[in-house]
Amino acid sequence: VSGPLEVSDLPDAARAAPPAPRPIVEVSDARRTVVGSAPVRRALPNRARRTVGAWCFVDHFGPLQPAGPGVGRGLEIGPHPHMGLQTVTWLFDGELLHRDSIGTEQPVRPGQLNLMTAGHGVAHAEETPLRSAGRAHGMQLWVAQPSATRDGAPSFEHHSALPRVELPGAVATVLVGGFADGASPARRDTEHVGVDLLVRTGAHAVLPLDPGFEYALVIAEGATVAESHAVGPGRLLYLGEGRDELGLHSGSATRALLLGGRPFSESLFMWWNFVARTRAEIDAAYEDWTRATGRFGEVRSDLARIEADRPAWRGAAP
Ligand code: MN
Repeated sequence: VSGPLEVSDLPDAARAAPPAPRPIVEVSDARRTVVGSAPVRRALPNRARRTVGAWCFVDHFGPLQPAGPGVGRGLEIGPHPHMGLQTVTWLFDGELLHRDSIGTEQPVRPGQLNLMTAGHGVAHAEETPLRSAGRAHGMQLWVAQPSATRDGAPSFEHHSALPRVELPGAVATVLVGGFADGASPARRDTEHVGVDLLVRTGAHAVLPLDPGFEYALVIAEGATVAESHAVGPGRLLYLGEGRDELGLHSGSATRALLLGGRPFSESLFMWWNFVARTRAEIDAAYEDWTRATGRFGEVRSDLARIEADRPAWRGAAP
């Protein structure tokens, strides 16, 4: 019978100096699902990880082709509500038109940031305009708002120019927060960062990290090796706190998002398009959207409003 070695079996040297704990590395697969009629890879939340910093949702859509399954014009996501989160829309190709219940009508194109803060409640619709029909490639992300701001008024920001930072082997665009010597002007309610990375073919890029942050790397195109793990589209590389840099080796040109932040300290209750803390808050939001009480406002859109499924814990409708 063989068994594990006991500590008492180890040589003295091994006992005397236990190695420092290595920062965590995890690789997880994105879940394939459908938003509107478009297939997406949902990297977050997943079973192992609910949040990375305040980032609580990462959908990667496309690249969609005009003849692709269920695509047609591109993305068509009718009016739907949000609360307690910020939506971050970031494109690699195509164009999306955002309309919301604050009265915003704002197209977003590659290199530009659409950032909507839901607070107590907002509604929006997103669609591919006719002029860029069939092309859609990007990421839709959510950032959980902290209790200090999550009941506040909704707001919207569009940033057409963001700081770009040249790194060895890569160029970084700072969507939110600070990275290297770049600082984004985008609103930020918690300590988090979002960076678009273009790693050159055959390059070894070194990214400066904040040791107090945890991070996720999500690949949009290409593939890279980080911390001895090969990652490509459809996977999420999670890095725990305690690193001051990350090396990336890319055999081909690679496009990725680096997401990070101080671990989010409040426990979230997420359901449908809502980020809350309790079921009672979700129940109230469900009622307000279903009964159109006005809490989420009206969106000027030709697309059909998206109805919420009744939360399972509420049982059958009376
Ligand atoms: Mn939305």
